[in-house]
Amino acid sequence: MTDLVALSRRHFWPPYTSSEAHESRAPLEVVSAEGSWLTDASGARYLDACASWWCNNLGHRHPRLVRALTEQAATLAHCAIAGTVHAPAIELAERLCGVAPEGLTRAFFSDDGSTSVEVALKIAFQFFQQNGEPDRKRFLTLPGGYHGDTFGAMSMGTADDYFEVFAPLLFGERGRTESLEEAATRIVDALSSHGKTIAAVVVEPLVQGAGGMRMYAPSVLQRLREACDEAGALLIADEVFTGFGRTGRMWACDHAGVVPDLLCTAKGLSGGMLPFAATLATERLYDGFRGDASRALMHGHTFCGNPLGAAIALEVLRVYEDDGIVEEATRKGERLARGIEALGRIPGTQNPRALGMVAAIELGDGGYRGERGWRVHEHARAAGVWLRPLGDTVYVCPPLTTADTDLDLLFEVLADAVRSTL
Ligand code: PMP
Repeated sequence: MTDLVALSRRHFWPPYTSSEAHESRAPLEVVSAEGSWLTDASGARYLDACASWWCNNLGHRHPRLVRALTEQAATLAHCAIAGTVHAPAIELAERLCGVAPEGLTRAFFSDDGSTSVEVALKIAFQFFQQNGEPDRKRFLTLPGGYHGDTFGAMSMGTADDYFEVFAPLLFGERGRTESLEEAATRIVDALSSHGKTIAAVVVEPLVQGAGGMRMYAPSVLQRLREACDEAGALLIADEVFTGFGRTGRMWACDHAGVVPDLLCTAKGLSGGMLPFAATLATERLYDGFRGDASRALMHGHTFCGNPLGAAIALEVLRVYEDDGIVEEATRKGERLARGIEALGRIPGTQNPRALGMVAAIELGDGGYRGERGWRVHEHARAAGVWLRPLGDTVYVCPPLTTADTDLDLLFEVLADAVRSTL
């Protein structure tokens, strides 16, 4: 055990890990990263197959993002955006609305994926409270969803392994364990029979990430959009994971031609450099906050619109445009689809699936607490690939800029690891 690992066992509290596991596992001691590769203290390299929790879409230390960060830090690192404006945040608001599904014209900035969801929930709730529909208090969700670990976001989550213990404190209507299509029908029925009590339907469009990389058809999203429209409820699209080209389109909503009323974005927005998030809204919602001080959206964070994060996000958007990142993700996605399909031919695997630069497969029925994915993790680690499974669900979600040869290597390692595990 190195000194750093010993120190971490004494003072550090890691996420999603029991104290027991923290004190027995051997973490990877990462000292640097470049492109799609992590390097550990011994100099060994690992392909970052989950883009560091799905946010390093442009790889690690992209030179243009590093430059944007250092240049911005040299002029203005932070200034509370209250009674002030600064170019990075305002220009970003404009550019972000420019690439968003048409009709989203306002950007509210916050810190991370969870807060971007909190903001969307608060906008939806307060909008109806102060615009003549105070009975609209309910939020409906699809089963298996994950929207973050703060209380509002958890209330929208149904990936029970994360939220069960907090259930008595949560307010959302957390869908039962049914298929996504059945759940959509349940939501459509609720919207048509009790529509006037529903503030919003909250979904991860097309791919439910942390809940097990569950995928569903664009037609499900379209049905929900139509039903929300008929009932006068809002549709909140949590694109924290799916946005910024991850699914092969800029937004997963684009696959369905759906424009949500509120869109949450984080992760890829700041290219894995800094925590930074935005909630995009329609002009109708923004207009619902006109009037005296009591009608203002009562929400804000110290670092909202932080110039460093905003400068990086602006540069991320420029890199996307200059390098055709979304088109590349579509092209490379075909490689992922072929790779996971081949993996699906290994006896014992189930349900191979892919959309853009996400591909997943089941190795058993153990769900999030299953151990098989972790055995694959160990094999892959020894072969220089860094995977973080969701229990028995093994997935890959590499930087969108990962070289084709590295993607081939990733699937070779994965095939070996899966064969030795099953
Ligand atoms: N929404 C989705 C769809 C996510 O996948 C995540 C994080 N995995 C979040 C929200 C929460 O984001 P954060 O961890 O940045 O708070």
